[in-house]
Amino acid sequence: MKKLMAANWKMYKTWDEARSTAEELVALAAEKLPADREVLVFPPFTALKAVGDAFGPVTGFSAGGQDYYIQEEGAFTGEIAPNMLKDTGASYGLTGHSERRHVLGEDDEYVGAKTAYGLKEGLKVILCIGELIEERKAGRVQEVLERQLRVGLKDVPGDIDPERLSVAYEPVWAIGTGEVAGPAEIVEAHNFTRKILVSIFGDKANEMRILYGGSVKPGNCAEIIALDNVDGVLVGGASLQGQSFSEIVLA
Ligand code: PEP
Repeated sequence: MKKLMAANWKMYKTWDEARSTAEELVALAAEKLPADREVLVFPPFTALKAVGDAFGPVTGFSAGGQDYYIQEEGAFTGEIAPNMLKDTGASYGLTGHSERRHVLGEDDEYVGAKTAYGLKEGLKVILCIGELIEERKAGRVQEVLERQLRVGLKDVPGDIDPERLSVAYEPVWAIGTGEVAGPAEIVEAHNFTRKILVSIFGDKANEMRILYGGSVKPGNCAEIIALDNVDGVLVGGASLQGQSFSEIVLA
């Protein structure tokens, strides 16, 4: 299984900025990219085409949408459909990111509907899960992860191609804080996530990627990516500069 090195640019970068960062990334990492790694960037919607153009036919580089709505088209002001993402060349969608759950108010049910809908519409989907610091302190990590996984995946067909569905474990207290989860915390959460995925999808869940996200940087990526059941990373802040993200991608 290829490791997936994903960048979440959140609400940063104009068209020109996105294009030049994507071009820089290709220049720094494309030739050296190991055959067992893939690069994925989630720019804002307005810069998807700029990133797609910069990546062009470069092997192993793709773009995805940070969000989408659960309808094909219609009177849904401000929303965007999976087909519109695909129209820009994007192949991935992101669901359940902590900022959408905790800042924008999305609940498990809606995240689940979105995950299933994106897969049905032909996107590859990364479902994000992760506990708040209060939940960790209360010893509720597994309870939270299991609920987010079971509700978040409940409408995904059992015969889904495992390469099209990934999970990102992103402890909310580690996102954008500089406080990275320790190796034991990461391995425990990833092993538990794998166990739940196997209970839902059977053996094929061993082919689904589980990414870690939360203050990944060039200096800590190599150690994290080598851990058991860590099949990639999802990176926010340290992915905004081509140089820094290229170091992560090649770590
Ligand atoms: C994220 O936004 O998914 C994320 C992990 O951010 P950061 O790397 O900045 O913690």
